[in-house]
Amino acid sequence: MMDPLRVGIVGAGIAGLAASIRARVAGSEVEVFEQNSYTGGKMTAFHQEGYRFDAGPSLFTLPELVEELFTLAGKPMESYFSYHSHNEVCRYFWDDGTSMIMYPDFEKTQQELSRLFPEDAAHIATYFAQAAEKYELTAPYFLEQSLHRLKTFATPGVFKVIAAIPRLGLFNSLNEENEKHFKNPKLIQLFNRYATYNGSSPYLTPGIMQMITHLEHGMGTYLPKGGMHEISQSLTRLAKDLGVKFRLETPVKHLEFEGKKVKGIETMAGDRFEFDTVFVNSDVKHAYGHLLPSEIKRPKRTLAQEPSSSALIFYWGVRKEFPELGLHNIFFSENYFQEFERIGSNGPFWEDATVYVNITSKLEPSDAPEGCENWFVMINVPPNTGQDWQRIQEQSRAQIIKRLNHVLGVDMEQLIVNESVLDPQGIEQKTSSVGGALYGTSSNERMAAFLRHPNKKFGTEGLYFCGGSAHPGGGVPLCLLSGKIATNWWKEDYGLE
Ligand code: FAD
Repeated sequence: MMDPLRVGIVGAGIAGLAASIRARVAGSEVEVFEQNSYTGGKMTAFHQEGYRFDAGPSLFTLPELVEELFTLAGKPMESYFSYHSHNEVCRYFWDDGTSMIMYPDFEKTQQELSRLFPEDAAHIATYFAQAAEKYELTAPYFLEQSLHRLKTFATPGVFKVIAAIPRLGLFNSLNEENEKHFKNPKLIQLFNRYATYNGSSPYLTPGIMQMITHLEHGMGTYLPKGGMHEISQSLTRLAKDLGVKFRLETPVKHLEFEGKKVKGIETMAGDRFEFDTVFVNSDVKHAYGHLLPSEIKRPKRTLAQEPSSSALIFYWGVRKEFPELGLHNIFFSENYFQEFERIGSNGPFWEDATVYVNITSKLEPSDAPEGCENWFVMINVPPNTGQDWQRIQEQSRAQIIKRLNHVLGVDMEQLIVNESVLDPQGIEQKTSSVGGALYGTSSNERMAAFLRHPNKKFGTEGLYFCGGSAHPGGGVPLCLLSGKIATNWWKEDYGLE
C-alpha cells in the first residue's frame, strides 16, 4: 500500500479549511499553517463589553456547501453546526423616507413592489426567472469546476451555455441589464447592489451577475446559530476530529522546491516541513510576492488584475432596539453612479456612501444585552493604496451617522456605547489580502472569471491554489467551492479517486 501523501496548507481561511477536510478524507496527512492565533481568516468574531460581533462575512447562502463537508467526513452535522433559515432577504431604506422589505417568498416581494413600484412589479417574475436561468446554466461550469481544464468544456451541456450566450448578459453591464427590466431608479439601484457581493461596480461588471440575485431570492438566506463565525469554527472542529493538525501563529516564509516539484514549507521561525503537496490559501499576490521562488513563472495578466473593493466597518454596541430594522439593512446613497465612480477613482466616496447595517442579535438575542443590538456598520471603499485611513474613518463615520439619524430619526451618537473599527489596512494586516480586498480580484472586467488564478499551478508538481483570489472567486460559497475544485484536481493527479 502507498504511504499517505503529506499535505501542507498555507492559511486557515474558509477555503483552506475546506481543502484540509477534503485532503484528510482522501487519506492524507494534513497540516495547516496559519499566521494568526485563530482559524477562519476573514471569517472571525470578537466580543466587546457584552456584545458579540462577526468581524467579516454576514450573509450566508448555499448552506449545502458546508453540509457537504460533514457528509463527506461521515460526521453528523447537527453535532457541529446548525443554522436559521431567514424569512427576509433585506430591508432597504432611502433618504426620502421610502423603505421596503424584500422576502425569499415571491408573493410577499411582489406585494411590496406593487405597493411602491407598481409600474415595475409586473416585470419582477421575469427578472427572477432570468437570474435563475443564468445561475443554473453557468454555475455548473463557471463556479463548480475549473475554467482551466479542457474537460470542463468537453461535455454536451456546454452547448446549451453557448447557445444561451446572447441572453447571458456578457456584453452589457449589470446596470444596463437592470435598466432593461425596470424603470424606477430605486429598484434599479436595489438590483445594482448585487455587484457588491463580489466587490465590483454595477456599472462595469457584466449583466450575467444578475444571477447573484437568484442566490437570495431563489435559494434563500440563512444565519448560522452562534453567528457566521460558526462556519469556520465548526469546520475547524471537524478537521481536528478527522486528524488535521493546525499550527497557529506560524507564518509561512516560503515554499521549498526541488526543480519544479514542491518539497515543503519553511516557516518564519526557520522550521522546515516536508510535503508532497501544498495548497496555498493565501492571497495569490501574497504568494507570488513572498512565498514562491523566483524560478516559478509569474502569471502577469492574473497578477495585474484589479483587486475587489474593500470595506470600512464600524462595530457598534447600541443601547436601543430598532423594530423597523432586520438582520440585513441597506441605507442607500443618493447617487449610486457617483458612489462607484468615487470608489473606483479614490474620490471622496464617504460623502454619499451606501450604508449596510447587519444586526445578528435580531436572530441571536444573546449577541447583545437585553434591550440592545450589535450593529455591524459597513461601507464599500477602495482597497488600501496608502490612503489616510484615519481621516477617512472620521469623515465616513460622520456621514454614516448623519444618514442614519436622518432616516431613523434618532441621535445615533448618543446610542453607541462601545465601538471598534476595521479598515482595509487592518484587513490586509490580518489576512495578507493585498489592499484588504474582500473578494480577491474584482469582476469589473468581462474576462475576469478567466483571468483568476487556476486552482493548480501549471508547470509545477504538487502546488495548488484555493481561496478568494483563485478560481472561482471570493465570498464564502465560492471559497468553499474553490477548496473542492483544487482538491478534486489534486486527487485526480495523484490517482486518489
Ligand atoms: P482568507 O479569509 O483570506 O484567509 C486566508 C488565511 O491565510 C488567513 O487566515 C491568513 O492569515 C492566512 N495566511 C496568509 N498568508 C499566510 C502565510 N504566509 N502564512 C500563514 N498564514 C497565512 N463573503 C460572503 O460570502 N458574504 C459576506 O457577507 C461577506 N462579507 C464580508 C465582509 C467583510 C468585512 C470581509 C472582510 C469579507 C466579507 N466576505 C463576505 C468575503 C469572505 O469573507 C471571503 O471571501 C472569504 O472568507 C475568504 O476566504 P479565503 O479562503 O480566501 O481566506
